[in-house]
Amino acid sequence: MKRHKRIALVAHDNRKIDLIEWVEWNWKILSEHQLICTGTTGKLVEESLRKKVTREHPLKYKIKKLKSGPLGGDQQLGSLITEGNIDMMIFFWDPMQQQPHDVDVKALLRITVLYNVPTACNRSTADFLISSVLFNEPYKPIIKDYSGYINRNIDQVKTE
Ligand code: PGA
Repeated sequence: MKRHKRIALVAHDNRKIDLIEWVEWNWKILSEHQLICTGTTGKLVEESLRKKVTREHPLKYKIKKLKSGPLGGDQQLGSLITEGNIDMMIFFWDPMQQQPHDVDVKALLRITVLYNVPTACNRSTADFLISSVLFNEPYKPIIKDYSGYINRNIDQVKTE
């Protein structure tokens, strides 16, 4: 990943206020990076950043808004991760309420682990990520070698 990061931002409804507060607190740093959000989160992030940015300090990139999470936004993010197009994810998911798209949430969290994407699911972790010296540096995450899995013996499933 390059110095300028592609940062995914997602929050469930009960945690959107937390995420927006965090975004507003960190607006100057975030304005230097590309933000990719699920639909509703993206709308709120855009509104709050628009209030913050100045002519001297504009947003460097347009905020990219995907579909709303329950309508496929989490899956779109998962797909971007598998293609190597997301460098980091801030995902404030709700630990107190089931979501209609719980399976998508689980899949997204799984894919971030699989592809070694730095992920923050609460504000303290997000604070640690954004204040890391690596945040503004190029960084190459080590991707586990899955060739053993890809080349596994599948003779038993071949048909004659
Ligand atoms: P939303 O989706 O930003 O469209 O509300 C968030 C989610 O539930 O994944």
